[in-house]
Amino acid sequence: MFRLGDLLMDLTRCFRGMDTGADPHAWTSNATQVTYDPAKPFLVIVIDDVSHDSVKRVLAASQGHAITTAHMPDVSEPGDLKLSRDAGNDVILHMPMEPVRYRERGIGLEPSTIKVGMFDREIRRLIDESLKKLNDLELGVSVLGMNNHMGSAAMQDPQVTDTVMSEMRCRGLLFFDSHTISAGQFGRVAADMARDAAARHGTDYVRRDVFLDHSRDPANIRRQFETLARVARANGGAIAIGHPHRETMGALKDFLNSPVASEFNIVPIGAYAYLELNGLLKPQHEQQPEVAQEPPPPPQPKPFHAAGY
Ligand SMILES: [Zn+2]
Repeated sequence: MFRLGDLLMDLTRCFRGMDTGADPHAWTSNATQVTYDPAKPFLVIVIDDVSHDSVKRVLAASQGHAITTAHMPDVSEPGDLKLSRDAGNDVILHMPMEPVRYRERGIGLEPSTIKVGMFDREIRRLIDESLKKLNDLELGVSVLGMNNHMGSAAMQDPQVTDTVMSEMRCRGLLFFDSHTISAGQFGRVAADMARDAAARHGTDYVRRDVFLDHSRDPANIRRQFETLARVARANGGAIAIGHPHRETMGALKDFLNSPVASEFNIVPIGAYAYLELNGLLKPQHEQQPEVAQEPPPPPQPKPFHAAGY
């Protein structure tokens, strides 16, 4: 069937990573506009592995707080993204990428998985097809960026990271690094490889701070929320990743209803990335002491299209 959306997307497609003249920050136009209190640190909660079956459960757990849903290309569809957008969230592509030793570990790979050793054009085709499965211009939904599902092998591979960051750059998409490699062994190498490739291509790149549910034990998830709050206070903001597990959704609900949550601006990833990339996140100790005589200005809508960005 002919779809106008597909045609329009083909026209903006990258041609072998050549500079198409696209705005590298084009993703900002797909970010949810938010208002915030500049005196509070920021939190981003990204829920990965979102599928058609789990999207409503995830939205129910968020209780109207702005989160970010990362959709699997093979099991989610544009209607799911529309539900999430309509709830005030940002939506991103959760792109399957090859993890280390997946055969030995008995991990099955999604059909769309980017693997080490693939040709450049295969990687670009997989990203293109995945975007087409989720974006729908007639429904008015398109992802603002992509993060990696698994990927502990692919995200350490110089060719894969180079191609992925080039593809993100020429489409004007944000790359959100899930940082799935355990620190110590490969952490630094892989983090730097993806980040270096992003810097080389001029791709907008941000990285996850805390995994909420590496262990699904509810006590552990609660502790991870505490870590998240601590990191966010220290750095001015922090990004967490969780999954649509029952335990995580329960802990998320509890956290959002707790007094701790009200210490923070809970914002979608687009707004946060804009602030981080523009050096606007301030650790709490760097903030100016309050001046008593004048009331603070009201929170301003975020200037996504500010000049000079
Ligand atoms: Zn995932």
